[in-house]
Parts: sequence; C-alpha cells; structure tokens
Amino acid sequence: AKHDGRNLHRFFSEAMQAVVAERASLELKLRAALAENRFRLFYQPQLDSTGRLIGAEALLRCFDTHGSMISPASFIPLAEETGLIVPIGDWVLQAACAQLRVWQAHVATGDLSLSINVSAKQFHQPDFVAKVTAAIERHRVNAGLLKIELTESVVIGDIETTVARMKQIKALGVRFALDDFGTGYSSLSYLKRLPFDQLKIDQAFVRDMDDGNSSDAIVRAILAISQSLDLEVVAEGVETSAQHERLLQRGCVMFQGYLFGKPVPIEAWPVG
Ligand code: C2E
Ligand code: CA
Ligand code: CA
Ligand code: CA
Repeated sequence: AKHDGRNLHRFFSEAMQAVVAERASLELKLRAALAENRFRLFYQPQLDSTGRLIGAEALLRCFDTHGSMISPASFIPLAEETGLIVPIGDWVLQAACAQLRVWQAHVATGDLSLSINVSAKQFHQPDFVAKVTAAIERHRVNAGLLKIELTESVVIGDIETTVARMKQIKALGVRFALDDFGTGYSSLSYLKRLPFDQLKIDQAFVRDMDDGNSSDAIVRAILAISQSLDLEVVAEGVETSAQHERLLQRGCVMFQGYLFGKPVPIEAWPVG
C-alpha cells in the first residue's frame, strides 16, 4: 500500500510538472507572438432583424511561428493570470480603432459598429481610460461606433468604482455591452446600476432553447428585462434558422452566429 502511495504521489507530481511546463511554454509563446506581431483580429458579423449588417465583434487570434492558430479560449485565461492581457489588450484596442477608421472612411461601411472584448484586469488598469481616449484620438474614430464588451467579472470590489470608470468612458461616446449574460451571478440591481447599453445573450441559452423549456424562459426573461431597462440585446451563437426564427418570435432584433458568418480575417470580410 505504501508502494502504491508513492506511485500515486509520483504520478501526480509528474502531471503537475507537465501542467506547469505547458503553461510556461504558452506564456513564452504569447510573449514572442506579441513581440513578433503575430496577433490578429478576426471579425464576426452582427445583423439586425431585417438581415442588414450592423457591425462586428472583433475576436482575437494568435498564430505560432508555424502559422497555426492558438485559440483565445486557451490563452486568454493565462494572459489574464500573467498580466500579459494588458499589452495584448492594448494591441487589440489599437488594431480595432485602426479598422474602425478604415470602415468610417467608406460609405458602405461607414456606420458599422465594432465591439471589442476587454477583460476585467485590463479595464481596471489605472491608465485604461487614458488609453481608450488616446486610441480614439489617434485613429480619429467616431467613438459612438466603438463598443466595449465586459463580463460581469468586471465588478470586483465595490460597484461604484466600476460605474465611475464606465461613465468616464461613456463620456467619450463609447458604448458598453454585457457579455455572456445569464451565465453569472449578477443580480438585477447590479444590472440596473451599471450603465450598459447592450446585453449579449449567452450562446448556451440560444443552443438549448426549445419551445417552453428553461432556456426559452431565460431568453424571454432577458428580453423582458432589457426592454424595461432600455437595453439592446444581441443573441450570440445563432447557428440554425430554427434558432433565428424562435428568437425573432421572442422579439430579439440583433443576431450574431455561424448562421450569418464565422469570425474571419479582414481580407475575408464581406463588405468594404
Ligand atoms: P466571447 O466574447 O463570448 O465570444 C464568442 C465566442 O463564440 C467566439 O469564440 C466566437 O468565435 C464563438 N462563436 C460565435 N458564433 C458562434 C456560433 O454560432 N457557434 C459557436 N459554437 N460559437 C460561436 P472565440 O473567438 O474562440 O473566443 C472565445 C473567447 O475568448 C471570447 O468569448 C472572449 O471571452 C475571449 N476573447 C476573444 N477575443 C478577445 C480579446 O480581444 N480580448 C479578451 N480579453 N478576450 C477575448
Ligand atoms: Ca464577446
Ligand atoms: Ca459571449
Ligand atoms: Ca464567453
């Protein structure tokens, strides 16, 4: 039995070492990708109820030296832990504003909005407001077309700090979306106090929605809440026309998902 215990211990410590080594190697890859400009933004279309293109969400991609893509689901959490999300987020902000500027310069794309994802750590950096201000000025973008997507994890500590910061950024004209709505624990009173402009219904509800089931009830509730709080709603992860139809019936008017388009590099963007 003692022998087994030792084996078990060795098994776990080797497994732990493997995890630590993999994380260290991913961190190095991210640092190198940043230094060598191997991050890219992909753009996923957002449509209104008539099928008109109204904007895009910018989704970050990282490429290794062989050109293989590293998914954000695997590197964002580590980037947040190591603080690398700050320089990476700076890059996203600059790249998104540069793209918005290009769109603004053409009639066909001049009113497209662009949403970027900002992690809580990035949002709470003391110079975040200054960086957003500088990026808008530098690229001369119409701030009203820039949207910042936050998850409810942005509320760390007292809510007042978050509200104050959001208001400073909103004063520039920038708008805010609450991402992955319905998956966390935030209360409705939070939602009422935070100055969001838009809610994004998490794709899990869209996927599981069926007439009268619990996801359907949640979607209906989200749409009702958004109406009473005067918030826009975007349904995420719409993959089938059945889902689209059902969402339209429930009164949803903004959509994003593979049904309308996957995230693509700017070279593959349909207009412009
Ligand atoms: P998210 O912000 O919730 O983004 C939506 C995710 O759903 C994206 O995954 C998108 O590609 C995927 N998606 C869109 N439509 C569909 C669909 O119809 N079906 C399915 N199954 N999936 C769909 P992606 O691009 O892998 O990004 C994953 C997460 O990484 C994002 O989730 C976001 O939390 C984070 N992320 C991406 N870019 C950034 C960034 O620039 N900064 C930060 N801080 N986080 C980012
Ligand atoms: Ca998002
Ligand atoms: Ca989301
Ligand atoms: Ca998400």
